[in-house]
Amino acid sequence: MTFQTIFKSAVDWPVTPNLLDYEQTCAEFTWDAAWQEVTGLPGGKGLNMAYEAVDRHADGPRRDHVALRWIDKEGSILDITYGELKAQTNRFANVLRRLGVVKGDHVFVLAGRIPPLYIAALGILKNRSVFCPLFSAFGPEPIFQRLHRGNAKVLVTTQKQYTQKIAHQRDKLPALAAVLLADVFEHPGDGVYSLPHLMVTASEEFEIGRTNPEDDAILHFTSGTTGMPKGAMHVHDAILTHILTARYALDLHPDDIFWCTADPGWVTGTSYGIIAPLALGVTSIVDEAEFDAHRWYRQLAEQQVTVWYTAPTAIRRLMRLDIEPPLEYDLSHLRFVASVGEPLNPEAVVWGREKLHLTIHDNWWQTETGGIMIANYASQEVRPGSMGRPLPGIEAAIVRRVSPHEVELITKPGVDGDLALRPGWPSMFRGYWLEEERYRKCFVGGWYISGDLAMRDEDGYFWFVGRADDIIKTAGHMVGPFEVESALMEHPAVAEAGVIGKPNPVIGELVKAFVSLKPGYKASEELKMELLGFGRQKLGSAVAPKEIEFKQDLPKTRSGKIMRRLLKAWELGLPEGDVSTLEEA
Ligand code: ATP
Ligand code: MG
Repeated sequence: MTFQTIFKSAVDWPVTPNLLDYEQTCAEFTWDAAWQEVTGLPGGKGLNMAYEAVDRHADGPRRDHVALRWIDKEGSILDITYGELKAQTNRFANVLRRLGVVKGDHVFVLAGRIPPLYIAALGILKNRSVFCPLFSAFGPEPIFQRLHRGNAKVLVTTQKQYTQKIAHQRDKLPALAAVLLADVFEHPGDGVYSLPHLMVTASEEFEIGRTNPEDDAILHFTSGTTGMPKGAMHVHDAILTHILTARYALDLHPDDIFWCTADPGWVTGTSYGIIAPLALGVTSIVDEAEFDAHRWYRQLAEQQVTVWYTAPTAIRRLMRLDIEPPLEYDLSHLRFVASVGEPLNPEAVVWGREKLHLTIHDNWWQTETGGIMIANYASQEVRPGSMGRPLPGIEAAIVRRVSPHEVELITKPGVDGDLALRPGWPSMFRGYWLEEERYRKCFVGGWYISGDLAMRDEDGYFWFVGRADDIIKTAGHMVGPFEVESALMEHPAVAEAGVIGKPNPVIGELVKAFVSLKPGYKASEELKMELLGFGRQKLGSAVAPKEIEFKQDLPKTRSGKIMRRLLKAWELGLPEGDVSTLEEA
């Protein structure tokens, strides 16, 4: 047996991991059998995400169970039960229906993490329209671009967002028929409506129409880490992946208190911040406020969070600080921690074990995959620095392109190549919005080519090497930035590092590292020399950085990913390209 039953002092029930025998579950898994996980619309009218996430619980014994626990910026709490969520989302679906919004219409939501966002998302799905989330801190231009390119028919937002970012460009959005303001109580007119006003006059009864599992459900824009964000289309069928991955990779059990820290403007915040936990009937925490180390530890303690899904960038921020979490906060309920979005440096796993007394489970996926594809599991050995192994039902491989239409499988362990997935899982994107050709190019020789490079070890664990675009070719070696960044992070002074290749006439590209320091450390020539030496000692001179520059604020996407392409553009004095997702320093 490879699993251990976990007992935590404050949880009075032993929790047996959902995935006990990895090999056997993978061997026996079929997506057809996964249909047992869903109820389907009454009367055999198909599969609708919102019905699975809300109504089937509201109509059963979990009616009064808390679905969403919302904590506002000031710390006040609002609990929304499954029963209440059903009524509210029905009202919202009726609002859309009354406005003439039909199946397939694109409804955008631009709001912070407030209840109307969650109610709108699910109501949109009930109406069989397409939920298109926008990150609330976007400025006017990225919002306009996405509304325009995304063919927005309706926008749900708040008054401030609307007046500051959209009103002045409304005439350039002729397809935008209605704007619903969540915090205004009288209809302003001119196609702008008060959402609360529409909601009180709408019925709490709504019958979801026939929904084909292949009907469009969600349009998600990617993070824009490597270039112009792409619009990935997802269908209702994706919920099968959401359910199974939340059960296996996040180990969600019915009585869990789950906190996914991602914003629904990004795919993690929708797939695992809205759909998956609700589909499993658990209580999901929503914190309106932005990252703050003490606030986050306090939420984990006070809300008695049992499963926490967060991101490496947040973990690295916690690591910088001199906080001893278990001494200051009661984290005894916390049982399982997972991370996604960027490589999780081995140092972060070590930190988790030392400071949280828990292993942080890295998992890998993309906007395009719609759900977790490769993960470390509660019951399985975790190899720090590895993303883990493919989910049951997911076939992943390392391949190499041999021609425009063919790939070759790399079966030898430890060899880098393109990380590829066998198409056919339910949450796979069904297209890039308005970019058909680009979508088609992702599929080569029967595989979806992810754009990431990785390698697989002899036991089937996958190790991230880098994004294909970020790989550095130096003196005949291929160097992944992650390896160099992780090594530098082992030095006590280093908080974060971003590594690029800088063109060099002799060696092709020279490895250059931008480094931010932990509090208490000062940039100096001595420290630079020390880090260069440290890098050489850890990595060998072929791979080690030849140049180091101290940079306290590394450029990141708003979803927390280091934008190496910007470091490179700045270094070389090249155009920045699309910076719509760049986080403000
Ligand atoms: P764009 O495609 O617009 O450049 P993006 O790829 O960052 O942006 P997302 O879909 O949000 O947009 O991010 C997915 C990517 O994030 C993956 O392809 C991978 O590069 C990175 N990633 C996610 N999880 C992990 C992980 N566990 N380890 C390493 N990298 C990860
Ligand atoms: Mg991408």
